[in-house]
Amino acid sequence: MLEFDVSWRAKGACQGLDPDIFYPDNDDNCDQAISICKTCQVRIACLNYALDSREKQGVWGGASARERRRLLRVGRRIA
Ligand code: SF4
Repeated sequence: MLEFDVSWRAKGACQGLDPDIFYPDNDDNCDQAISICKTCQVRIACLNYALDSREKQGVWGGASARERRRLLRVGRRIA
């Protein structure tokens, strides 16, 4: 099983916030989470983690699940 470095999490702008903000009912309700992610100093590490670990739910690194699926598809095509 792969192990991921998640030490960046402690510096996330989402620390202490309601997790429901980052796990909305659907991808169309991600605006608040994405706004918070835009201010986050570990956004890139967070997004890379979510892509590498294939996180299927929630907003990570400013990207919704739908957006991450798109990024993975594009990445596969480029590779
Ligand atoms: S990018 Fe967003 S989800 Fe990731 S740690 Fe920062 S605030 Fe949290």
